[in-house]
Amino acid sequence: MKLSWGATTDMGMVRQQNEDSFVAEEGLYVVADGMGGHNAGEVASALAVTAMRAAVKSGITDAMRLREVVQAANTTIYTASLDDSAQSGMGTTLTAAVVVPGEEPRFVVANVGDSRTYLFRDGVLSRVSVDHSYVQELVNEGLISEEEARVHPRRNIVTRALGIDRAVSVDVFTQVVRTGDRLVLCSDGLVDEVSDADITAVLLQHRDPQLAAESLVMVANAAGGRDNTTVVVVDVLDDVSDPVESPPAPDRTEPMIVPAPAGERPKRRITVGAALFWSLAVALVLSAISVVGVYARSGYYLGFDDDGLVTVYRGRVGGVLWFDPTVDTQTELTRSDLPEGVLVDVETNRSFASSSQARKFLEFLKIAIIDSTTTTTSPIADSATTTSG
Ligand code: MG
Repeated sequence: MKLSWGATTDMGMVRQQNEDSFVAEEGLYVVADGMGGHNAGEVASALAVTAMRAAVKSGITDAMRLREVVQAANTTIYTASLDDSAQSGMGTTLTAAVVVPGEEPRFVVANVGDSRTYLFRDGVLSRVSVDHSYVQELVNEGLISEEEARVHPRRNIVTRALGIDRAVSVDVFTQVVRTGDRLVLCSDGLVDEVSDADITAVLLQHRDPQLAAESLVMVANAAGGRDNTTVVVVDVLDDVSDPVESPPAPDRTEPMIVPAPAGERPKRRITVGAALFWSLAVALVLSAISVVGVYARSGYYLGFDDDGLVTVYRGRVGGVLWFDPTVDTQTELTRSDLPEGVLVDVETNRSFASSSQARKFLEFLKIAIIDSTTTTTSPIADSATTTSG
């Protein structure tokens, strides 16, 4: 069995750094997509691929062994994150394919997170790995389609990553190798921008694995390139040499995909823990806003509107944050209608606990006006007034 491969990584069109790492060497192919503040994502993905390279040298013969190696990489990253506060909470996805030779050669694939390994066989692209992501769970439950998942606003939430916890559950898959098979490993920067159908079209177009990898990255960038994109393409050739043609380099002036509309925010990868933190933070802010809102809308008071008419407002004098008072009851009474004894009540924005109390006071105003022998005695007990929060 003869293998031929190509690989490339690109920062993309939006990001300022590349947190992806990869390995492409005889028999071992890995893509890792790091996450974490500062440069911690880069550190995590680099640690993952380094750990994989070192471990694979000792030989991987089956899926169980590959799983152990990935779990050891998890421990390495987790320990490093505890040792350096700047790297606290760093993590990385990882998808790895090891080619195990033998009478019946096999691909052994491991996966944690939402980088992917695809098998391209007989012109058909199929996913070997299953994403560990929130949107994949929605797809599994039949709530959204694969296409909806690709553009879902929560597609950045990964449900598993290396380095986040002391232990990690690693998916492994075994696949018998056939001549002509092509494996494609990639970070989510590719699949978020390029549909499986368009990936297939590029793979069909380029027999050379390096050109195929570079073209896929180019297409992702042409479609927006909102994330780092890494692609590894591995071809299984006949034992007897099956030299690939070297087609001309892809024409960069003709992207195959129409770029996505501008303005969409770049995806920021977060773990479930971070998602939980932010949703709690958002919930706290929302509940604080609703408490303020209840307070801001809880009182009634008297005042003159812009036309000088006596008005009962609901809310707080001057408003609270963006909760402006609203008109509850409007009268035809003007300043000049009011006896002095009650004018002061309007001018000082006398307040009430309820709309009905405010209306009772309006009745009193009208009686006071008719009865020009003014009295300042309010029909409403002092306990009815409310100025405290
Ligand atoms: Mg990514």
